[in-house]
Amino acid sequence: MIKDFFLGFIRIHILHHASKEPVFGTELMEELARHGYKISCGTLYPILHRLHNDGYLVLKKENVGGKIRKYYRITAKGKNALQECRHKIQELINEVVEGK
Ligand SMILES: [Zn+2]
Repeated sequence: MIKDFFLGFIRIHILHHASKEPVFGTELMEELARHGYKISCGTLYPILHRLHNDGYLVLKKENVGGKIRKYYRITAKGKNALQECRHKIQELINEVVEGK
């Protein structure tokens, strides 16, 4: 299923954005939709939980207008993973997109 391929891209996207600033679920869903990944909460939240449980993201809860919002930021482990992914992405672009 093509979705299996996109899940990896989505995980990388999340790490990328979490490396720039704290991110939260609904905001990420909008950002991913902007990139053409229309995913539901039912898909996104397990990905966030897994990245958090695996130590790639840290979670901070904040009270926003009486509602608890979960903000995620990248960890050192997440940064390392993202850096490794960057190399792999470049390789992939060179070969698959540019045909070098
Ligand atoms: Zn993005």
